[in-house]
Amino acid sequence: MNNPFENAKEQLRAVQALAQFDENIMAQLMSPKRVIEVSLPIKMDDGHTEVFTGYRSQYNDARGPFKGGIRFHPGVTLDEVKALSAWMTWKCAVVDIPLGGGKGGVIVDPKKLSLGELERLSRAYARALTPFIGATIDVPAPDVSTDPRIMGWMLDEYEEVLGKKEPGVITGKPLSIGGSQARSYSTAQGAFYIIEKSVKRFGITMPATIAIQGFGNGGSFLAKILEEAGYTVVAIADSKATLFNQKGLDVVALEKHKEVSGSLKGFEGGEEYPSEHVLTLPVDILVPAALENAIHIENVSLIQAKLIVEVANGPVTPEAEAILTKKKVVVIPDILANAGGVTVSYFEQVQNAMNFAWEEEDILEKLKKVMDTAFEAVFEQVEKYQTTPRMGAYALAIKRVALAMKERGRA
Ligand code: NAD
Repeated sequence: MNNPFENAKEQLRAVQALAQFDENIMAQLMSPKRVIEVSLPIKMDDGHTEVFTGYRSQYNDARGPFKGGIRFHPGVTLDEVKALSAWMTWKCAVVDIPLGGGKGGVIVDPKKLSLGELERLSRAYARALTPFIGATIDVPAPDVSTDPRIMGWMLDEYEEVLGKKEPGVITGKPLSIGGSQARSYSTAQGAFYIIEKSVKRFGITMPATIAIQGFGNGGSFLAKILEEAGYTVVAIADSKATLFNQKGLDVVALEKHKEVSGSLKGFEGGEEYPSEHVLTLPVDILVPAALENAIHIENVSLIQAKLIVEVANGPVTPEAEAILTKKKVVVIPDILANAGGVTVSYFEQVQNAMNFAWEEEDILEKLKKVMDTAFEAVFEQVEKYQTTPRMGAYALAIKRVALAMKERGRA
């Protein structure tokens, strides 16, 4: 199986071969600055104690406090968390916000927990990490299977332990306790701005057809935004099924169906296929928005899309990407495509620091500017080095991180 951290390092070696950054800096960028492992004993509803393992990887803080989400998933590994924290570092640099990179995870299947168990686990994780996080140290946020409610519990636990208010310690909070307008759909909104720029740049005819893998925070908001903007969302998959309708799925009806039934299965407005089918359909644009390593050496030859936009982190393995590049399939990398989430997280922190809230339209205007500027900056590097969008994004990110390290005297 693909090790995401090995992939992350391979991407660094590839950009080093291209752009030749300072060797002393590159050596430091190959591993996290600090990794924290915690044991979380949780009293379960039936009275027994279960011990969960959690991680936080603080990768690089040259440009600002560590920043990155917390994932609750049975497949979490230390190497996965390390890879995700490296990608957060590059992502914050691509969109030029003053933050570094971090990531957290707990090995757990949250679907198997009661609400009370989930709250106790979330609070235990926040308590265990309290000495290592803070608004100017390391700022967590939601990721796979964590949401604003969990962020609310974590903020409460952290502030209760410290005995003071510090809303900027965590982003993706509910609005009532310092969350930001538009944060809930900001990853999707940012990806939408990048899709609009990509469609123009690569001459994709509208209305473009789209398949989306993953119907969670990233995938479901994106499907709705694209449908409203006149794209034809022909396929959507969750972990159990793909739904397909050549004329376009009714995304809002599909979301209601999922809310009621808990899955996409059984929806009447489309044909049902196995989950992985979503990747290989004849569409203009494919959006992997589930987990890493979705497109790999064994299924890459079946991909028919012209453009792949990585809303998930690390969904295309390096070997698969090499084949896609040969086939002239354009891959817009995660560190650009899904950076809208962390950008609005940064806006959330700024608002918390000012104890003030911006209007939704102000946030969207600022987000669009950041995403459009980052897209142009990445493609300047693509042209400079005559390389792929991923390597263009890496060249830009590493240049910015390396400059901060150099100016701190860390070279
Ligand atoms: P989520 O938990 O809200 O949703 C994940 C979705 O993926 C669910 O619909 C799940 O059913 C589906 N899924 C899981 N395995 C699948 C499979 N094998 N095939 C098809 N579908 C599958 O998570 P999310 O927050 O939407 O995150 C998804 C991806 O986007 C992750 O890689 C995450 O790191 C990345 N991301 C999320 C954010 C954010 O703000 N939430 C920001 C940047 C990147």
